[in-house]
Amino acid sequence: MTCLFFVIVSIASWIRCPLYSPAEGVKGGVEESSIANLTVIKSRIMKRTSLAIRNKVLVVSVLLGAAFSAVSAAANAQTLNNEQIFEPVPRLVRSQPTLFPAPSDAIVLFGGGEKDLEQWQEVGSGDPASWLLLNDSMTVNRAMGASTSIETKRTFRDIQLHIEWSTNPVIDGDQQLRGNSGIFLHSQFELQVLDSWQNPTYVNGQAGSIYLQYPPLVNASRPAGEWQSYDITFEAPRFNAAGELETPAFISVLHNGVVVQNRSEILGATYTSQPSYDVTCTPYAQTVAVDCSGAMPLILQDHGQVVSYRNIWVREL
Ligand code: MG
Repeated sequence: MTCLFFVIVSIASWIRCPLYSPAEGVKGGVEESSIANLTVIKSRIMKRTSLAIRNKVLVVSVLLGAAFSAVSAAANAQTLNNEQIFEPVPRLVRSQPTLFPAPSDAIVLFGGGEKDLEQWQEVGSGDPASWLLLNDSMTVNRAMGASTSIETKRTFRDIQLHIEWSTNPVIDGDQQLRGNSGIFLHSQFELQVLDSWQNPTYVNGQAGSIYLQYPPLVNASRPAGEWQSYDITFEAPRFNAAGELETPAFISVLHNGVVVQNRSEILGATYTSQPSYDVTCTPYAQTVAVDCSGAMPLILQDHGQVVSYRNIWVREL
């Protein structure tokens, strides 16, 4: 648009620049002839001056257009290029978590206990999930040392997902190292989990963000150690028979009962250098490419900090 604007300005300046059009012939004697010659010379000088001015206006307009187009392209790339964004900061909203039991038609993915943990496995290795069971929750196991993200054994496409989470009440880090975890829908798109209570960081990386794509509409976080809830509606991407993207993924999220994502169009995988959709993709924390056109597991991220989950259920849509 900017470039188009400057093209219009250029053309307008070319057309509107006054063209000097003196009389080409003067009738009469020697004196009149001399005056006529002077007039012709003067008109040629003014024509050249006029032409020079118009050329300068044209060149300056084109250069400005190119410069503004480049700046505009860079600004757009900042949003689409997996860059950290720091402003505007979502305002804080006081809220309460939605802590309610699964509806009768829901699939309970974790209600507490050893048996429910068996519905999960380590990402990549497929080993049994090693997270710690305590009461009705499961917690990232720091004793394992290495990252041990876990995934559901079941796979899903379009879903309603309820999940409750809590970050470590003992604050021992800041920014992205404070209660960082995440829920990867379709094994590729991270809804960020983070202690975002009085913990400034880039806004498209705080709790409720689609990581490096969309900040939450507001900050509905509760203090560390309190249970919080996400209620998610997710529409999986669709590919045609040729393996081309037909429809991207969409996500809506309530954080503690407050809308923080309103059918946001996911731009692609959130952990790659640039968001992308590939019918054959390598899911988060894995090394082997798989067919990503159908149903896929949910992943809970181990980012090296203590984060707990409980009361996880899903309804297939
Ligand atoms: Mg995370």
